Amino acid sequence: MSFCKLLSYHYLPFATCVHRGFKFHASGLPSKQAVQDKTGTRLAPAQRSHLTLISRPVVTTKTEDRIGRLLSEALGSGRVREDVELAPFTTFRIGGSADYFFEPHSEEELVRALRLVREEEIPHFLLGVGANILIGDGGFRGLVIRNRVGGIEFLEGGRVRAGAGVSVYHDLIQATAARGLGGLHHYVGIPSTVGGAIWQNLHFLSPPPERERTVFVEEVVDSAEILTAEGEVRTVDCDYFRFGYDYSILHDRPDVVLNVTFRLEPEPTESLRTTIRENLEWRDDRHPDLWLYPSAGSIFQKIEGVGAGRLVDQCGLKGHIHGNAQIFHKHANIIVNLGGATALDVRALISLAQQTVRRELGYELRPEIGFVGEF
Ligand SMILES: Cc1cc2nc3c(=O)[nH]c(=O)nc-3n(C[C@H](O)[C@H](O)[C@H](O)COP(=O)(O)OP(=O)(O)OC[C@H]3O[C@@H](n4cnc5c(N)ncnc54)[C@H](O)[C@@H]3O)c2cc1C
Repeated sequence: MSFCKLLSYHYLPFATCVHRGFKFHASGLPSKQAVQDKTGTRLAPAQRSHLTLISRPVVTTKTEDRIGRLLSEALGSGRVREDVELAPFTTFRIGGSADYFFEPHSEEELVRALRLVREEEIPHFLLGVGANILIGDGGFRGLVIRNRVGGIEFLEGGRVRAGAGVSVYHDLIQATAARGLGGLHHYVGIPSTVGGAIWQNLHFLSPPPERERTVFVEEVVDSAEILTAEGEVRTVDCDYFRFGYDYSILHDRPDVVLNVTFRLEPEPTESLRTTIRENLEWRDDRHPDLWLYPSAGSIFQKIEGVGAGRLVDQCGLKGHIHGNAQIFHKHANIIVNLGGATALDVRALISLAQQTVRRELGYELRPEIGFVGEF
């Protein structure tokens, strides 16, 4: 009997959302917010991808030994760890344990792992640096694949190919800026793997000092190699990803990015250094220091012309504490872990903000982060 057949599912309001790499989305709630991509095109409900209803396994006991044996045989004995605490692998420093945990260091290993879990229908989640997710206190029943696929290769014409597990900040930005190549340096200070950056179309208000527009990582994506939902390794161009604000096609198709080729522009080192320094200073003034205040960046999606954080602030919730989590005192769209916060603490603050803003101001706040595992 396949692993999935051993599981039954139920729905519960608001949050766990990943099974076999698929995310489950609820239909759109009534909202005043105009959900648009950056070209102004209204997004279809599926593209909005907020996560308010979830599907999760009822089974909470450890997955069968058979799964462990299967994974070890295919991925190498000693390479698959069991009962691994996930909190240290997220920027929130929150989350229970994964039944199984594997770190692929090459594309071949990543593809092998993905093909196996798909074939055997083993629930799995692909983790970057965990900067845009909240993992439940109950952990994850199945395999967490923490992407460590590295490699930075400089090609002709200002192009650079990077493995999907390479960290954009520091490694890729450092390597490209050192060669006088600009385009990725805007994203300094933002924790992300290359794969995570494509998933969410990494963005930031840059360049300084004007900060007149949001720059998006899609602007420097030339092409990428992916493992498609159908199991085929394919090279695709930038258009394939249908990038939008906080959106790529990866939200709706379980394709996995293996590597990305960026097309960068030569830029004087001094100008790159200035942008890097000023962007880091700008962030330092407004954002919590991750070492002191672990977080997942912005919690709610942007509301055009209004600002999700401003709405939460208007309701007097800045600085509000639940358990060991707090709506950050300097930035109301960020929730921080004050030390020992649980996923339920964070969830309570998210609900409080949503309910208060809905009641007092009539706006619907939609989480930007993904909810993973059992809550
Ligand atoms: C302090 C802080 C500040 C932030 N500031 C910004 C900001 O200014 N701008 C911004 O855009 N974001 C910001 N973020 C959010 C976050 O940095 C980005 O969303 C980042 O791209 C997440 O990358 P990750 O590797 O951590 O992905 P994860 O959080 O590990 O995963 C996120 C999703 O991507 C999927 N994924 C990861 N790798 C792949 C792959 N190879 N193929 C397919 N799917 C994949 C995962 O399965 C998951 O569904 C901030 C976060 C923090 C903590």
